Amino acid sequence: RKHLNPLKRINQEIFTYAMGRQREIEELKKVETFRREFLADVSHELKTPVFAAQGFVHTLLDGAIDDSTVRIKFLKRAAKSLDSLDALIHDLLTLSQIELGETKMHFEHFDILEMASEVLDQFENKVERKGLYIGFDQEYNHPIFVYADSEKIYRVLTNLVSNANKYTDEGEIILGFSVSSGHVTVSVRDTGMGIPPEDLSRVFERFFRVEKSRSKGRKGGTGLGLAIVKHIMEAHNSKVSVISTFGKGSTFSFKLPLSKEEDLDSTEDDEFE
Ligand code: ADP
Repeated sequence: RKHLNPLKRINQEIFTYAMGRQREIEELKKVETFRREFLADVSHELKTPVFAAQGFVHTLLDGAIDDSTVRIKFLKRAAKSLDSLDALIHDLLTLSQIELGETKMHFEHFDILEMASEVLDQFENKVERKGLYIGFDQEYNHPIFVYADSEKIYRVLTNLVSNANKYTDEGEIILGFSVSSGHVTVSVRDTGMGIPPEDLSRVFERFFRVEKSRSKGRKGGTGLGLAIVKHIMEAHNSKVSVISTFGKGSTFSFKLPLSKEEDLDSTEDDEFE
């Protein structure tokens, strides 16, 4: 560097500086595009339930309110639209908090099998009413302790099981746990409609739906569920993945670190102190 003549050195410094600024500008442009697209997506998604509720309420005011059967029907539909609006706003807030890094992670040791059983209990009625079976892939005789944010992992499990149920018309939903080298891989497998290969990489994008119509009439989809799952797994330094055969079914899975023996011992000690 010493041997470089001063003019050349200045040139080089200017070049490095310019390259740095160029990169910053590109980065800002990307953020700006993301922000603009996000706003457009959100406005679009908000419009649907608002227009629907508006339509029902105005029709009621225009006279439909006098007919008692129509009245109940329209009020119920307006209420349903408002419920999906509520779900959408709730998911949007969750997503933006995670994206902004505003959600604190609360790591703790817990038994993922016990949590999964709770999720099974929560969904059993709903799933079985459709004539589907839901259960574990095998009998597990021992707990599987993991170190993670239990509330967020509960959200991940319920989102995946809820999707499996939404997009499966017959067959089964199976939860599996495979332990290897300090980790457990949790999987949710269904025998549902599957995802076409060209869409596989896109299902984790916010508001992406395999067919626009697919989620319609299938209760409560906000199109944000998998985007939230993806972010939660990233906050755990892990990721969620999917394999699927179109028309046959899908398997979503994610990996969590197992609790270490010594950590579990010390938690027990804490309780007796
Ligand atoms: P949605 O609220 O629409 O279910 P998600 O973000 O949870 O939104 O999922 C995005 C899209 O991925 C869904 O609209 C659906 O097309 C597809 N998808 C998600 N889970 C499954 C599944 N288990 N089987 C088939 N398709 C699925």
